[in-house]
Amino acid sequence: MAKRIVILCMGLLLALFLSFTERNRDRVSFSRTERRMLHIPTPGLFDGGGYFTVTPDDLKRDGWCFPVRDGVLFTPEFRHQPVGWYIMSAEEGHEVRSAMEGVVRLVRKTDLGRTVVVLHPNGLETVYAHHDRTLVKSGDYVAAGQPIALAEADHGVVYTYFTLMADGVALSPDVIADSSGRLKPVSLKFWRDADGAVRATYFSAGTVEERNPDFEWEHGPELVDLDRPFTAMERQHVGVATPGLFENAQTFTLDLSRAGKWCYPLPGAKVISPYGGKRKNHTGTDLKTRPNDKIRAVFDGVVRFSGKYSAYGNMVVVRHANGLETCYSHNARNLVKSGERVKAGEPIATVGRTGRATTEHCHFEVRVNGVPFNSDYVFDHSRHALRDVRLTFRRKSNGSISVKTD
Ligand SMILES: [Zn+2]
Repeated sequence: MAKRIVILCMGLLLALFLSFTERNRDRVSFSRTERRMLHIPTPGLFDGGGYFTVTPDDLKRDGWCFPVRDGVLFTPEFRHQPVGWYIMSAEEGHEVRSAMEGVVRLVRKTDLGRTVVVLHPNGLETVYAHHDRTLVKSGDYVAAGQPIALAEADHGVVYTYFTLMADGVALSPDVIADSSGRLKPVSLKFWRDADGAVRATYFSAGTVEERNPDFEWEHGPELVDLDRPFTAMERQHVGVATPGLFENAQTFTLDLSRAGKWCYPLPGAKVISPYGGKRKNHTGTDLKTRPNDKIRAVFDGVVRFSGKYSAYGNMVVVRHANGLETCYSHNARNLVKSGERVKAGEPIATVGRTGRATTEHCHFEVRVNGVPFNSDYVFDHSRHALRDVRLTFRRKSNGSISVKTD
């Protein structure tokens, strides 16, 4: 009899434990990476059979509430982030409330301004940004409707930026709610497809998958912490390793179809000399337009190096969160400084022939961990288009990098 009670108790404890861990309800502390990076995967999210679902009941149970009382959606003149909601309120410094109960993962300044990310028992995360002040810290439990920040005024408009995330991938709140903040009667199933990308489908009570909610991918996952200050070595040299990149594994994968916003480095250019070339020692791709045309950052990132660099002449190196670095050289003028944040498409230099160059052009390189590889893996130069492929980078024992497309 006593034995049966012990077994029963252990079973109950196990069931309790599983129900807690299953939904991340037990998460009260986060790793340094989780506390700092916006777009990172949620550990364990797909452990229960490779997918998770979110139903209207789940959202109600977690207490869904519109993040700004009497707030209305609007489209600002310059929309930096295409995915989420901009919520405006007439009230100066309005309170921003957690949309559901959960645990605060991240509180810090990001590209979006002062930002709070909350992880919810249903597996989703919510992101709140553009704040004057934040009222919570990482690890805090918050109830649905609890104030977590105060909105910031920008050119006379007080607004909050709000978006959902699944496994670090931003998705529009439109997926679950209408513009007045009312929940839609939809159920969502999230999973990782064979390529490792996060996918989602609406399904109805009969579990028939109906249609894809058309995610707009705002970002790929972040592999590199762009807020870490550069060392003197990183500010002065081009071929240096990227901290954090191969810390836990010898390989990493970059899905260019999820790379977020991008821009061809020199719009309108044609290739006058490819990577490798006749003597197999050309470490970049030479792009030609007219002198003084604007050279543009390929992805969002931080300028790591800007200055003269021997035969390269004036050179700009941009570090991206996706693990790549892009280098632009022989510039007439560099328009950015080391440490500056740049957006994809932002002009960073003008075309010139400084350093060892026989004509005005941009010597464009892509690098991983300081090592150049063929930019044809990333761009279809004939179409000026980012390739729709997944690249796997492997660091070999001698420090060289191999690239594979799959
Ligand atoms: Zn070149």
